[in-house]
Amino acid sequence: MSSPADRLVPNIEFVDATTWLSIHTGTSIQATPSGIMNDWIVGLLKFALAVLAADFLVGFVHWIEDAYVREDWPVLGPLVGRPNILHHHLPRHFVRKSWFQSCWDQLLLAAGIAGIAFWMEALTWPVMVFVVLVGNANQIHKWAHRSRRENGPIISLLQDLHLIQGVRHHAIHHTDPKSMHYCVITEWLNPVLEYLRFWTRLECLLWRWAHLRRRVDTSNRRHGAAPEWIRLQARGAIS
Ligand SMILES: [Zn+2]
Ligand SMILES: [Zn+2]
Repeated sequence: MSSPADRLVPNIEFVDATTWLSIHTGTSIQATPSGIMNDWIVGLLKFALAVLAADFLVGFVHWIEDAYVREDWPVLGPLVGRPNILHHHLPRHFVRKSWFQSCWDQLLLAAGIAGIAFWMEALTWPVMVFVVLVGNANQIHKWAHRSRRENGPIISLLQDLHLIQGVRHHAIHHTDPKSMHYCVITEWLNPVLEYLRFWTRLECLLWRWAHLRRRVDTSNRRHGAAPEWIRLQARGAIS
């Protein structure tokens, strides 16, 4: 026969954790307005972190391409180096490219990250936001080279609200010496990284540790003549 005290103990198999905690602490756990607000704040923070992480990764890759990838390197030279050199000499040439032509390399990177996250069972919604932004970063970059008429009202509004990078902000990257503002998704990270002299310090470290020197960017004034293929492209002799 069970005692009155025993009868107060619920059968643990039939209660969930919340009920169990309520019984044992005498408190009631409910979805309060402040709890919902906290969930929203945490969700927004996770979203912002995913966006900033994507912006940083894309900026980091952009910095490597601009500073170190040379056009005469095997494989990476023609695939990555040349399009980057061309973009600094003729920024609007990029606008003619299709979504896939401008984003294929970042899509590969994004697919790799998504694959690893899936394998690690870590493909959460913030990781998905991160992956989608990494894969489409050059599309946002392309919008920063197009006119308001070319972009249409929605993209122009997102740029006006500074939710994605706008034309004026990205123009800083295309101003001599073209060695700052590598992040192309938002306008939030570049000022912080420039304040910290992040890229300059990284280049100094690479020079000290590995004697890696920045490639000469002939799109800058007084930095030498542009390669012949760029001159032909500028004259429209090759597409
Ligand atoms: Zn660049
Ligand atoms: Zn650009």
